[in-house]
Amino acid sequence: MKVPFLDLKAQYNSIKAEMDNAISNVIENSAFVGGKAVSEFNKNFADFIGTNHAIGVGNGTDALIISLKALGLKHGDEVILSANSFIATSEAVTNAGGKVVFVDCHPDYYTIDTNKIEEKITNKTKAIIPVHLYGQPADMDSIMEIAKKNNLFVIEDAAQAHGAFYKDRKVGTFGDVSIFSFYPGKNLGAYGDGGAIVTNDDKLAKYCRMYANHGRIEKYNHEFEGINSRLDGLQAAVLNVKLKYIDEWNVNRRKVANWYRDKLSGFNKIILPKELNGVTSVYHLFVIRSNKRDELKEFLKENSISSGIHYPIGLPFLKAYGYLNHTPKDFPVTYKYQSKLLSLPIFPEMTEEQVEYVANKIKEFYK
Ligand SMILES: *Cc1c(COP(=O)(O)O)cnc(C)c1O
Repeated sequence: MKVPFLDLKAQYNSIKAEMDNAISNVIENSAFVGGKAVSEFNKNFADFIGTNHAIGVGNGTDALIISLKALGLKHGDEVILSANSFIATSEAVTNAGGKVVFVDCHPDYYTIDTNKIEEKITNKTKAIIPVHLYGQPADMDSIMEIAKKNNLFVIEDAAQAHGAFYKDRKVGTFGDVSIFSFYPGKNLGAYGDGGAIVTNDDKLAKYCRMYANHGRIEKYNHEFEGINSRLDGLQAAVLNVKLKYIDEWNVNRRKVANWYRDKLSGFNKIILPKELNGVTSVYHLFVIRSNKRDELKEFLKENSISSGIHYPIGLPFLKAYGYLNHTPKDFPVTYKYQSKLLSLPIFPEMTEEQVEYVANKIKEFYK
């Protein structure tokens, strides 16, 4: 049996007629930049998350940069984020003129360890960016409390968590501004790059909308210099179709996660992901820990099972951040886990047989 890491073709086949129609509509109307699909998507996505505004932009990384600019980040301002994330989170801070400050990840939940945030706050700290990593919401009660106490902005990086709940609210509704990515492999993925900023703040929304579109309010009336980072018409049309199915797909992801838990329950050679109390993860990834990670990954590959590593090098240990001179003892959990984390295949179309096959191969490896 072959088990891919994800299966975008299977997803396309399940909605092919509707998708082809939506795409050809955009082409028939030459609505490539701006247009009806984009304005519809901005409304649909804001409704889905539960915010007053959604602004489609070119990608999730730009969404972060634009959000930081909107919050008035100035040169030298510090922004706190988890050492265990994709580089987009930290890269955006630097690109917006700020200084990256890493915090170790939580040993059970892999999101930012909220017990270690306050020791990193200085009089230059401007914001915290919690990442809802692998589809699991960060501990938002603690983060919002710390932010309030220290007068900091919160930007949720929900690139991996479309539709996830923290208690009774969706992620993206807690921060001053929040961002999503529609990279094809994300839970809600376009057929190319795409991203969105969501917020309840009218002023921030207006600034983001203008900044992403050359600082203009109308054609050739530019109030300030911005950039060109717009969600295009084709991607918006694709996302409008997919948005109708995202809840169903997230339910399926959770079902797959539960099959893994069933079939691997009591098997103590690996450590299954833990859910934070009160959250509903959308399992962008199903990440286990293994002391023989690389050998296990290789064994799975020999048995036609694709797996991934998120992430093989913690952000502070990347060459890109060598200038910060961090050592493993600065972020012991992130450092220890970078050689143990393994992402098993998970996607909404995955069958119970496929999950069973993966689980059996994991057990076989340890025999
Ligand atoms: C994918 C991702 C991003 C960036 O999104 P792009 O659309 O690829 O620019 C940001 N943060 C996290 C955690 C991501 O996984």
